[in-house]
Amino acid sequence: SPDKSNILRKYKIVFLGDQSVGKTSLITRFMYDTFDETYAATIGIDFLSKTMYLEEGKTIRLQLWDTAGQERFRSLIPSYIRDSHVAVICYDITNKKSFLNLDKWIKDVKLERGDDVIIVLVGNKSDLANDKRQVSVEDVEQLHNKIGSKFFIETSTKANHNIVMMPMIMLMQSQKLL
Ligand code: GDP
Ligand code: MG
Repeated sequence: SPDKSNILRKYKIVFLGDQSVGKTSLITRFMYDTFDETYAATIGIDFLSKTMYLEEGKTIRLQLWDTAGQERFRSLIPSYIRDSHVAVICYDITNKKSFLNLDKWIKDVKLERGDDVIIVLVGNKSDLANDKRQVSVEDVEQLHNKIGSKFFIETSTKANHNIVMMPMIMLMQSQKLL
């Protein structure tokens, strides 16, 4: 007999950040590490969804929204933010400008959602940290405290570093939301 735990809960996660910080690469890496994926495209914004099986027989469906940085698609982004449980805001650790622009992305998120949203900061391209790092962990922690976000991680889609942590963060959060 069906019980509450069999209800398929859906969570929307929007990926934001400047062009070429690695949003599409992050989503691709994250998605294709596991079993169930589907793909659909819309103009300027794509989504992929994935079912995750948690303990106690709970199943959740994550819908990952990949936004495009081009100016002509910018006006579409607020409606995706409005619909999302989690905003993953990405920057490139080798690109200071992409870090400074986090303010703008955070502002966009707060404008739509106030404090009723989970913000995850992702510093991508950690494989280039030795030679090309322009953003320190301390820089991010300062910003972090300012916005009251609890989650920050450095990743490399190229080296497959910490990608596994993204689903973990999302799972922790979806557990909280369940
Ligand atoms: P988006 O515009 O934010 O979706 O960025 P993309 O995912 O298209 O990535 C932009 C460029 O950065 C591409 O050339 C990727 O190959 C490269 N890239 C993405 N992630 C990484 C990473 O972790 N390390 C390195 N070295 N390059 C990356
Ligand atoms: Mg992209």
